[in-house]
Amino acid sequence: MTENSTTKATMEKIVSLCKRRGFIFQSSEIYGGLGSCWDYGPLGVELKRNVKEAWWRFMIRERDDVVGLDTAILMHPQVWVASGHVQGFTDPLVECKACHLRWRADALQGIKCPSCGGELTEPRMFNLMFKTFMGPVEDAASVVYLRPETAQGIFVNFENVMMSQRRKLPFGIAQIGKTFRNEITPGNFIFRTREFEQMEMEFFVKPGTDEQWFTYWVEQRLSWYKGLGIRKENLRLRPHGRDELAHYARCCSDVEYLFPMGWSELEGIANRGDFDLTQHSKVSGKRLEYFDDETNEHYIPYVIEPSAGVDRSLLAFLIDAYDEEPDKEGTRVILHLHRDLAPVKVAILPLSRKEEVSGVARKIHSSLRPCFMTQYDDTQSIGRRYRRQDEIGTPFCVTVDFQSLEDHAVTIRERDSMKQIRVPIADLKQVVLAKLAGEPFEGQTATAGEGASKA
Ligand SMILES: [Zn+2]
Repeated sequence: MTENSTTKATMEKIVSLCKRRGFIFQSSEIYGGLGSCWDYGPLGVELKRNVKEAWWRFMIRERDDVVGLDTAILMHPQVWVASGHVQGFTDPLVECKACHLRWRADALQGIKCPSCGGELTEPRMFNLMFKTFMGPVEDAASVVYLRPETAQGIFVNFENVMMSQRRKLPFGIAQIGKTFRNEITPGNFIFRTREFEQMEMEFFVKPGTDEQWFTYWVEQRLSWYKGLGIRKENLRLRPHGRDELAHYARCCSDVEYLFPMGWSELEGIANRGDFDLTQHSKVSGKRLEYFDDETNEHYIPYVIEPSAGVDRSLLAFLIDAYDEEPDKEGTRVILHLHRDLAPVKVAILPLSRKEEVSGVARKIHSSLRPCFMTQYDDTQSIGRRYRRQDEIGTPFCVTVDFQSLEDHAVTIRERDSMKQIRVPIADLKQVVLAKLAGEPFEGQTATAGEGASKA
């Protein structure tokens, strides 16, 4: 991977690749689109599932102290009173008196409309929660909100989870799910959208141990991004100043990524203290406490919260993986996606459409597809097919040729090094599984023509 890949990956190139190859489409495109809403295409949905799967494995499956949860999007309206969202989840909105564009007052540089220079209205507070009605009557009594964060679903289930799972502090509850915020100024593709997906974990600890757990989780979360291939020079940690802390937070650090539009938040890690459980105890009247049987004390745990965006991480993974190299057909675009994230793991490429070759290739395809995502491609030259797979980040291509009929072996070609190895068909599945698990690829470097015989 070249050093200046980030500068190569402009947002225009990423958006264009995403549409061309079926990662991400504009929502309702045939109707002209809907503001900042996006749909994940056949490759995008695989990538997104892989991002969530990598998070779930890292945060839950490989640990003893975190369990999962999946709560409803619609919750009792009092939840958002307790959490402070009804009162405080607002942005100051101003409108241009000339062109009627709306802006977030706190994000503006001057006192004029950035678009036309017109005069702006006085700011009014605008709640970012989407409101809807439950049941057939649309009145104040039936108002519910689409959740603006997944965290509250965790807090209100604190006792259910702790009791049913017989948990002792410290322990965490994690969930992935859709979240809605009626942002005044969404933008930058899938970076800021009104409907998005969060990956959040609330880690409950004994008060007094919260600072060391905060440090621990900051390091863990940084290591997750690096472990999935994000270059460390494109990641940084930004502790919040006292003046920018959210009302619930004792301290907070953002993991930031160097996006094409500059350093921006990828994930926030907050020490929420006992704010949420205290608030829910007050408003619900149900005491949400922990009984420490070692010290015989009742207390409200403190909470460390790493809160990441699925869409935002996916965008960072795409940008960091994007690369271009000159080749004889112009430009070779490669996504150096981590093998755990790549939408397609293996492509099966028969070098001939003759029945004896394609029959073997199809048999190989059906033996591999139960194990991982595969693609079968027998159209155009082998060079073109390699390019297509490189562009979507497929780590391994398997070519089947006439020699395969003699030696019962196939060639595996690795995306980044373009090295090749010859493997007996009988061993193929095990070899690919080992490579996908991270075994080094020790092969021959192919020439510019890619080594494999032409179709
Ligand atoms: Zn204006």
